[in-house]
Amino acid sequence: MANLKNLLQLSKLCNEYNATLVAVSKTKPIEEILEVYHEGHRIFGENKVQELVDKYEQLPKDIEWHMIGHLQRNKVKYIAPFVSLIHAVDTVKLAKEINKQAKKEDRVIKVLLQIHIADETSKFGFQWEDLNKALKESEILEFKNISICGVMGMATFTDNQYQVREEFQRLKKYFDLLKSDYFTNQSNFKEISMGMSGDYKIALEENSSMIRVGSAIFGSR
Ligand SMILES: *Cc1c(COP(=O)(O)O)cnc(C)c1O
Repeated sequence: MANLKNLLQLSKLCNEYNATLVAVSKTKPIEEILEVYHEGHRIFGENKVQELVDKYEQLPKDIEWHMIGHLQRNKVKYIAPFVSLIHAVDTVKLAKEINKQAKKEDRVIKVLLQIHIADETSKFGFQWEDLNKALKESEILEFKNISICGVMGMATFTDNQYQVREEFQRLKKYFDLLKSDYFTNQSNFKEISMGMSGDYKIALEENSSMIRVGSAIFGSR
């Protein structure tokens, strides 16, 4: 059973901070997602393509589906018809493939640039230097069928709150730099996707605009 009391508190908190709550439903059954849906929640996140497609097909069509996990290029085509935001774009090649599949669907797909902010143990995301190089030298800003809406990051999995806070501050700083260097007049570049069940409070305090919360809503996996 989904924890609807936590859901309500999280929604309230997000309202106060003017942030979006993505309910991360990975591994959870349709019935539990419907419990959350029937409370009025419409934004859900998944991290596996097959599971995302299955759930999209079975659930009401006014759900906004976010792909939050690492995405392989050869699977983009399966979610391109319906996905509403892809959080983890971490290579130019992936951006290019999303652009290509979005064009086939006659859509503009919203994406976030994932930036590596954690310590060495986690592997995904652009390194800051590489991202700048990509924005300067690649064609990524010219793709017409993707809309780059901001950044996403994951803090180190640690009990050290100071470290987590410092990593979120770094992501916010990166967002500001990107905004002023490459996206000055683009009002859709506004999202900072950071914060999960264990660290969403710190993330909101550090200017997160979008938290991705799974276990605090759906229980442990
Ligand atoms: C699973 C997942 C989450 C949610 O994690 P919880 O700790 O259950 O809140 C957030 N972001 C990503 C990328 C995930 O894969």
